[in-house]
Amino acid sequence: MSAGDSHIMPTYNRADLRFVRGDGAWLETETGEKYLDFGSGVAVNTLGHAHPKLNDALQAQSEKLWHVSNLYHIPEQEKLADSLCAASFADLVFFSNSGAEAAEGMIKAMRKYHAAHGAPEKVMLIGFDGAFHGRTLAALAAAGNPAYLDGFGPVAQGFVHCPDLTIEAVEELIDETTAGILIEPVQGEGGVRDVGTEFLRALRALCDEKGILLGFDEVQCGIGRTGKLFAHEWAGVTPDVMAIAKGIGGGFPLGAVLTTKAVGSAMQPGTHGSTYGGNPLACAVGSAVLQEVEGAGFLAQVQNRAVYFRQNLARLLDENGDIFADLRGRGLMIGMQCKITNNDVVAALRDENLLTVGAGDNVLRILPPLNVTQEEIDMAIAALEKACAKLRAGA
Ligand SMILES: *Cc1c(COP(=O)(O)O)cnc(C)c1O
Repeated sequence: MSAGDSHIMPTYNRADLRFVRGDGAWLETETGEKYLDFGSGVAVNTLGHAHPKLNDALQAQSEKLWHVSNLYHIPEQEKLADSLCAASFADLVFFSNSGAEAAEGMIKAMRKYHAAHGAPEKVMLIGFDGAFHGRTLAALAAAGNPAYLDGFGPVAQGFVHCPDLTIEAVEELIDETTAGILIEPVQGEGGVRDVGTEFLRALRALCDEKGILLGFDEVQCGIGRTGKLFAHEWAGVTPDVMAIAKGIGGGFPLGAVLTTKAVGSAMQPGTHGSTYGGNPLACAVGSAVLQEVEGAGFLAQVQNRAVYFRQNLARLLDENGDIFADLRGRGLMIGMQCKITNNDVVAALRDENLLTVGAGDNVLRILPPLNVTQEEIDMAIAALEKACAKLRAGA
């Protein structure tokens, strides 16, 4: 079927590739061509494709029970919530199916907290230029990217946007209606921009001083991507609320809102819900992902691989100063700002059977599975070198 005949709504510019199976960092097309997947379904396939422990977890659960309503206790949900809380600042968890829903849940929880504490006027959330929180109407309003809001009617109210990553700029936006601050510790879609540990610490201090909440969107940078389980751990501060998704499901749709007891306990029966959220299949897989990522030596290895990869990329940047402008991000959340169109670099890499992803700010995003091998990193470097040579030759 040609693209023009497809019954898929044309919301994506898709590469002409059809993958039918995967194994670790590798994807295979229907014609048997193999690609090294350094996009990981955009930071989703934490452990690569077809990881045996995830397959086992999904299969075992699929034979027991697929779905029950949240009208009942769900043991797999309790187990994953216990693990997430043991591993983080959080006391309470609400499960969703996606990152946008997790971001929405985070926004609702931040407002409800103030309403439940006698300050219903505190509804405004401060977001940042270049942010991304998903494609629902409130998540779009929270990020404020005009290109994504255009044509979709009135923009949800209750958000302001800070143009700079400076504490003075944030402070200027705070008034008696402010509920909190919403930020990705490492911006993903916006261009793999690490907001910095100092800035996160300053935000925490500011929120404490003003009596407002700090919400982290770790949908992309969480679950080991930066070499710590959560990216904010690098700064040594904790949020009041956090949204996760992508990496926690390892390929199974799963998201979550994590909160302190103070924030989450304002979300009383009837205030929020989701039919599928916390589905037993999703939570069984989520627990298996978390068990691996928290396993002995796993995150240390992510950090080591990241150092090795980044050393090589820094050299590549030096040698290809006409193609790349800088190397950014943290851990295995890697960005290379391009001097030529980033999508041309993504396409040139695809021609070398290496999959990467574009991001805002003309950035090439490189997100290998966290269990990537050094040999696979070497192959990716070789593909990058080849692609750069061809781009330079104008091939
Ligand atoms: C991808 C992403 C989202 C949205 O997740 P979906 O699962 O696509 O809804 C939200 N926040 C961040 C930081 C993301 O990277």
